[in-house]
Amino acid sequence: MQKMNMYFSRFFRGENTYKLGNLVAGYYGEQDFYRIAENFKPHKSILVKNFIFEFPSFVQIDALLISEHEIHLYEVKNYDAHCSINDGRIFYDKKRLNHNPLFQITRAVEGFKNIMHQENITLDVKPYLVFMHPFGSFETDGTHAVSLMTRNQLREHFRQMISLQKGESAYSPKRLYDIFKAYQIADWHSPHDDNLVDFNNLKRGIYCLNCGSFSVKSMQHTIKCSECGHVVSKKLAINYLIAECCTLCPNETLRPQDIFQFSDGLLDRGWVYKNLAKTLEREKRGYYFKLEKNPYTDQMLELYSKLKSRK
Ligand SMILES: [Zn+2]
Repeated sequence: MQKMNMYFSRFFRGENTYKLGNLVAGYYGEQDFYRIAENFKPHKSILVKNFIFEFPSFVQIDALLISEHEIHLYEVKNYDAHCSINDGRIFYDKKRLNHNPLFQITRAVEGFKNIMHQENITLDVKPYLVFMHPFGSFETDGTHAVSLMTRNQLREHFRQMISLQKGESAYSPKRLYDIFKAYQIADWHSPHDDNLVDFNNLKRGIYCLNCGSFSVKSMQHTIKCSECGHVVSKKLAINYLIAECCTLCPNETLRPQDIFQFSDGLLDRGWVYKNLAKTLEREKRGYYFKLEKNPYTDQMLELYSKLKSRK
């Protein structure tokens, strides 16, 4: 999700990011999956969204379902296409996908089993690839250990899980989650993500959250858009900018310079310092730990869909 937020910022700041459409579709697919899973999963089980760990290498799992008897790993795709799997390779509308989700989930299972081994947990780990798009479909030759499902098979999947859960288990999902949590790392870009930001290509300043325009006026306590008249408090503007810088900057920490660089003189320096200290935890002088989550994803999605529909 942080990756999508990063691309949102880059898009709003003038970069042409062809990746964004896929990321947004993927995000909607995941949210849809989470809603269904929350509604139909076994009563005592725990759903963990976007589980990321590094043990020993970087692994991201869209969803983890911890039940008393099994661990389920889900890779969620929102392909609007017919997918076919042939000899372990996956084809998307007959085009071969280079980024094979079957490899992704197989790698995730291996990584996750390392954690289980380390913690002496002997439950089964079951991998699934879920196609969420209502018009998506698949066919498979069965040459893989990953179970495939479409969106409309999910309810039945969870129902079966409930009916199979008989008998006592030595494990409580809550305790298991506490163990797994210790391995979880923050949702930052994968160290293998090669598409880093070139700050010189990004527009500076504060843009209107309603129309995306950079033509804004700084008033005493507010910032007003000259294009559409939308007004936001400076408080919101700076918090939004801090969140943006957290996703844009590649380092683990954020410096006040990063904020100044983007605020383009629209915000008072002393006030920026004050707000940084209030919003983020300080690592050492001049360095702050980034936010773990961007609280403005919904606003960004909204602005993105407006700008998209205008084109
Ligand atoms: Zn505006």
